[in-house]
Amino acid sequence: MNFETVKEYIKQAGLPNFRIKQVQEALFKKGISSWDEATNLPADLRENLKKDCPILSFKVSKIVVSQKDKVAKALLTLNDGLQIETVLLKPQDSWSVCVSSQVGCSLHCSFCSTGKMGFKRDLTQEEITDQVLMWFEYLRKEKLGDRISSVVFMGMGEPLLNYLNVIKAARELSSENHLNIGARHISISTSGIADKLHKLAVDLPQANLAVSLHNADNKERSKIMPVNRKFDLDDLKKALEEYIAMTGRQVFLEYSVLENVNSRPEHIRKLADWIYSIKDNYLLHVNLIACNLGRGEKTDDRIVRDFAAGLKGMGIGVTIRKSMGNDILAACGQLASQKR
Ligand code: SF4
Repeated sequence: MNFETVKEYIKQAGLPNFRIKQVQEALFKKGISSWDEATNLPADLRENLKKDCPILSFKVSKIVVSQKDKVAKALLTLNDGLQIETVLLKPQDSWSVCVSSQVGCSLHCSFCSTGKMGFKRDLTQEEITDQVLMWFEYLRKEKLGDRISSVVFMGMGEPLLNYLNVIKAARELSSENHLNIGARHISISTSGIADKLHKLAVDLPQANLAVSLHNADNKERSKIMPVNRKFDLDDLKKALEEYIAMTGRQVFLEYSVLENVNSRPEHIRKLADWIYSIKDNYLLHVNLIACNLGRGEKTDDRIVRDFAAGLKGMGIGVTIRKSMGNDILAACGQLASQKR
């Protein structure tokens, strides 16, 4: 739901301004999933909105709920028939939503199901913000809560390659007129599009930045992340130094530990050396992920723990991120690619 569209619709219909407030309340406070539920509006307006202003810009084709974690994943069918995924999760006390920013992805990371699909198209701002609105409705309906506290751009696609729509969506989500998610609770996760970080620091200085690193050796990183051939570790280093100088914010380095690929002691050493080569490196923090390789499969916990201990021993800040939703193919692109 592009709220500007509905605002314009109400204005065009010659209705009083307070109707806009009522619509806003129904959508972003009450979490209605159908205009019929907007009982604060007159019946004829509800009927017209049903006809002319669909609440979501896609159909929810499937929702799979994890039996073991507080995670649910939805497969969404867009108006042109293409499909994307979005995930709702509660890693600690509050709900978070992981959104997709593109249909497919052009970057072909070797470990990623979305990368194998190839790139289809960018999502619009509305298609991005609606993923969060959809989960807000779901939480209300299932009586699971009434607030989404954070949003991560970590689903299908590279957010910085759909730059304008991602910036617009992040701003909309944190607006008081929408779901009012704090700007500091919005995270952008990039594979390392170094030439966009300066602009990101200007446009969304409050957002969290996460960089998917996965290897600190140029040759090896290029093998699993072909984007490294365009923006290598030197480019990334310079861009991060500038980003940190501009924002003063902590940056997260995401590292999926893949057994026999990037998990050996020399990988720990190279990662630590690369981090120490960066100015203000005390603001860099490594998140280790036991890679979700498919239904129920992930890297052995012991290997991830040893990797974390190695980094800590070298004075690097590190957290092991809990891998959630293995039973529902919660990693990016796994559900949509299974469908094909
Ligand atoms: S990991 Fe992200 S950047 Fe890499 S192919 Fe998958 S969606 Fe694209």
